[in-house]
Amino acid sequence: MDKLCEFLREKGVSPSIQRLKILRYLKDSENHPTALMIHHEISRDIPTLSKTTIYNTMNLFSEKGIVSELCVGEGEVRYDLNLYPHAHFRCAECGKIYDVKIDPELFKIKKINGNQVVHTAVYFTGKCRECFGKDKENL
Ligand SMILES: [Zn+2]
Ligand SMILES: [Zn+2]
Repeated sequence: MDKLCEFLREKGVSPSIQRLKILRYLKDSENHPTALMIHHEISRDIPTLSKTTIYNTMNLFSEKGIVSELCVGEGEVRYDLNLYPHAHFRCAECGKIYDVKIDPELFKIKKINGNQVVHTAVYFTGKCRECFGKDKENL
């Protein structure tokens, strides 16, 4: 938890237990959860935790640049932890979104063809290793 504690402090957020739990969950879950998914998970440990608290925390995290909101064309906002620059792979079959490491230099580009870059998002789609594996088992 220490590193996450430090990470929050660096971002100017005081590390409460629930904030740390949410952060830990975001770090461990590979599927880029929605606020409801986060609530479902965290309320197992803290049953009194309201959905409003989750929404407020996620708004704060978003403001402070700790998370970004992923646009995956699904209507519902999914949250992504910004520990390091990364790209995404979305499985068209199961809908899971994986973090993938790509050349970090790509995220440093500030100008491209004379245009100024404000935000860089790299997004792959296809069939994930799990769905791919399932197919093989069925053969
Ligand atoms: Zn899949
Ligand atoms: Zn991500």
